[in-house]
Amino acid sequence: MPHYVKFYDTTLRDGEQTPFVVFSVEQKLQIARALAELGVDIIEVGFPAAAESEAEAVRQCVAELKGPIVAGLARARTSDVEATAKALDGADKARISIVLPVSDRHLTASLKLSRFAAEEQIGEAVRHAKTYNDDVEFIATDATRTGIAELISALRCAATAGATTLVVADTVGCGLPADLKALFQLLRKEFPAPLSLGIHCHNDFGLASANSVAALEGGADQVEGTINGLGERAGNTALEEVAMIIDYHHESLGLHSGIKLDRILDTSRLVRELSGVPIQPNKALVGQNAFLHAAGMHQQAMLADPLTFEPFGPEAVGGKASLEDRIIFGKFLGKNGLRRLLALDGLELGEAEIGALVKRVRAAIESKETVTRRTMLEWARRG
Ligand code: MN
Repeated sequence: MPHYVKFYDTTLRDGEQTPFVVFSVEQKLQIARALAELGVDIIEVGFPAAAESEAEAVRQCVAELKGPIVAGLARARTSDVEATAKALDGADKARISIVLPVSDRHLTASLKLSRFAAEEQIGEAVRHAKTYNDDVEFIATDATRTGIAELISALRCAATAGATTLVVADTVGCGLPADLKALFQLLRKEFPAPLSLGIHCHNDFGLASANSVAALEGGADQVEGTINGLGERAGNTALEEVAMIIDYHHESLGLHSGIKLDRILDTSRLVRELSGVPIQPNKALVGQNAFLHAAGMHQQAMLADPLTFEPFGPEAVGGKASLEDRIIFGKFLGKNGLRRLLALDGLELGEAEIGALVKRVRAAIESKETVTRRTMLEWARRG
């Protein structure tokens, strides 16, 4: 039986920590609705202790969303836990997510807290949260730069106090896939089911998706991240990537999820629009070039079999563009290549006409216009 992976989306909380990104309450609600449709299991809506608008966003999601678990973030302190519990009051399914760093660097430099005091604080905060809600998550910040004994000890404090999900955060993205897999194999032995184990990665080295999948292979059953990989610095794990990796490799990984892959593109567009953060053109799945083909030899192969130069087509993520519109021309287009492409459509042009068409396509490309196969065929037919 394949293992079910729970998707925990933090676009509205960690994603909003992106420089210059601010979501209004209404925008958060709009994105939360899209995330629910996407099939996300847990939606972290905000950090109620930080601002009244955050609490309001959580309250509104609680009132409207039926299906996904609505989560609110709290630092490991009583007032935070109370603000979050209050905002989540009346929820169909709620989670209080408590966060505290566990590395020496963070405890010393930022919290000025002894390890003993930090562990006391974790236990107290989780116990307090449990008086309001059974579903309590503990997120160990900077866990991948923490000694293994210290990490297990901190997670043990949370588990003993009643936490139902334990999360390892690779806060500055410096984990390696093989290490994350080994770490979760060890943690799974220490913390067997029904305890949930989650992974929360950042993309500082471009490894967030690889690290997340490795953790899932090791025994994690929850992945945290954002849509488009939105997040501070190089961003968080792009959840759409993890969902697609799990689906494509479901047999070898033995994993499955509830994500509706054909909702990915629409969700991505909404987050791009409301966050105002553009997506890099070559971004996996959702970048504007992700399904475009410009190399002449690739084009001919693609026309013969669309899987020659793609693992899956755009329809897999809900895209609608046909191959005709995804084959575009680059400046190296020559007469011979063009002749072969036209022949595929049964078009045969004279020498002068071919020359004129090449000129027209090149001129358009030089003035930065996109020339698709559809456009080129139109020009060839109409002259
Ligand atoms: Mn984070």
